[in-house]
Amino acid sequence: MGELLKFYVNGKEYTTEAGKTVLEALKDNGFYVPTLCYHPALSAVGSCRVCVVEIEGARNLSTACTTKVTDGMKIQTNSERVKRAVKFNLALLLSKHPNECMNCFADGRCEFQALINRYNVEDMFPKNVREYPADESSPSLFRDMSKCINCGRCVRACEELQGLSILSFVERGYETLPLPAFGFPIAATDCINCGQCSSICPTGAITERQDYRRVLDALEKHDKVLVCQTAPAVRVAIAEEFGAEPGTISIGQMVAAIRRLGFDYVFDTNFGADLTIMEEGSELLDRIKNGGRFPMFTSCCPGWVNLMEKLYPEYTENLSSAKSPHEMLGALVKSYFAEKIGKKPEDIMVVSIMPCTAKKDELTREQLRANGVPDVDAVLTTRELAKLIKMNGIPFFSLPEEEYDQPLGISTGAAALFAATGGVMEAALRTAYELYTGKELPKLDFNEVRGLEGIKESEVDLNGKKIKVAVAHGGSNVITLLEKLKSGEVYYDFIEIMACPGGCIGGGGQPKSTDPNVLEKRMKAVYRIDSEITPLRKSHENPAIKKIYEEYLEHPLSHKSHHLLHTHYTNRKKRIVERVKEFVKDS
Ligand code: SF4
Ligand code: SF4
Ligand code: SF4
Repeated sequence: MGELLKFYVNGKEYTTEAGKTVLEALKDNGFYVPTLCYHPALSAVGSCRVCVVEIEGARNLSTACTTKVTDGMKIQTNSERVKRAVKFNLALLLSKHPNECMNCFADGRCEFQALINRYNVEDMFPKNVREYPADESSPSLFRDMSKCINCGRCVRACEELQGLSILSFVERGYETLPLPAFGFPIAATDCINCGQCSSICPTGAITERQDYRRVLDALEKHDKVLVCQTAPAVRVAIAEEFGAEPGTISIGQMVAAIRRLGFDYVFDTNFGADLTIMEEGSELLDRIKNGGRFPMFTSCCPGWVNLMEKLYPEYTENLSSAKSPHEMLGALVKSYFAEKIGKKPEDIMVVSIMPCTAKKDELTREQLRANGVPDVDAVLTTRELAKLIKMNGIPFFSLPEEEYDQPLGISTGAAALFAATGGVMEAALRTAYELYTGKELPKLDFNEVRGLEGIKESEVDLNGKKIKVAVAHGGSNVITLLEKLKSGEVYYDFIEIMACPGGCIGGGGQPKSTDPNVLEKRMKAVYRIDSEITPLRKSHENPAIKKIYEEYLEHPLSHKSHHLLHTHYTNRKKRIVERVKEFVKDS
């Protein structure tokens, strides 16, 4: 612990570590401070001025998020002057905001709405809502800038976390808005559809594209066999939507709730993750033995695939050709499982529950269809599933726990690791090592690739053959790694890339959180599933995986596996003018 400072809040003495901001020190000591533009994952800018406090000796009110505590500092958080200023600043924002809460996806989860209620803010100024056409161009995102409060969190998320700067503030004063360059629709930019801007937006101005209504219609009509699958990261986060702490594991309740919604089968995307390891691991070993493009990159993150195709297409051949786990599972539901239940692929609807907005965009890829029938029909985010559960009044935590359906519901701890950065690498190494060397791994945990460091590296010895591996997560770190790779500064044989900070646990479709430790908490839960909850910990030991190869797929990389479980990528690097022309032509 560093140097301790004394400071006073509303007349009482407290201590904090030197270097902390007033906001951090107040929160650490249990004080409530309203915030809007502040988010613990981003730099602090103090632009919304709702976190203002009074500091003795300072003429003006100070923003708690940008002011550092000094020894002996005297702070008032609840003086009349502070309360008046917070209410005034909120009222100014409210004057520009439409009163559409009842029809807004963010209703009940909107930080702005919560503050308006908490401070009992009424219209103090004439309503002057900015009219701006909603941007529905993206298959992943919906942007309604009339609801924007100019907090800038989306701009900073895209720049600081993702290194992409797709959004920036344009215009001045009242007209200021965070938009893509030249006000183009977002689909005409290099946006990778990661959705980090949507999960960090405190209002309903940027949300995922809301596909839950389409799924609700399908559940009501029920003219198809309805199959749902849930991704590894959803089970350690969805409980947050019902008020639980991040990292609460709720597998059994989630499966039970999905059945109550009316799905006929609930399968586990973790089965698809085990299959991914069999196919991707075998592809790595094949490249090692028979030659191929190195480094080989993992391919299960569609945000990363977008980034590669749009900005680094020179690596197209380096990507594993393995489809993402939910696409693999979808392809098997519409072939292997369809045969088992005597249905045609088009008579089955597959809905994937994902932590991910990029997976909504992934569905639009032509190469993920067989005879015009998509592997997966709809992707809902963790937030959308929670919305459906709430809309149906399903008592999430009082449900008796239920298990996934078979045979596509059995999985291993290795598959559970896919949720966190480093997890795909660890799962792949567990299998690749044993398949290559024929020996049992002395230790299953690969600690070098765990944790939240932006770029991690390690070396694995496969019977004397040294394999250099790296892991990167969050667009900024990914771009740093790729630039080093391009310049020849580093060399690796195998690289795991996840577009979102922390990997899928921090996906753009996960419950919104302002808990500074949310990723650590969700990550801890992922490792608990692997080491304490799931009896098997290696993908190649999954009995259901062995069975499907015996019964149907023959072996990894077989002709049938290639047909069903592998895909290809394209060069989508374009100048913005070409992208806009293409967008206009398509729409
Ligand atoms: S989806 Fe990702 S890349 Fe696109 S604007 Fe949002 S943060 Fe940026
Ligand atoms: S779109 Fe959302 S995150 Fe971005 S500035 Fe507006 S309110 Fe803030
Ligand atoms: S890291 Fe996970 S949640 Fe984020 S874009 Fe990739 S697959 Fe989706």
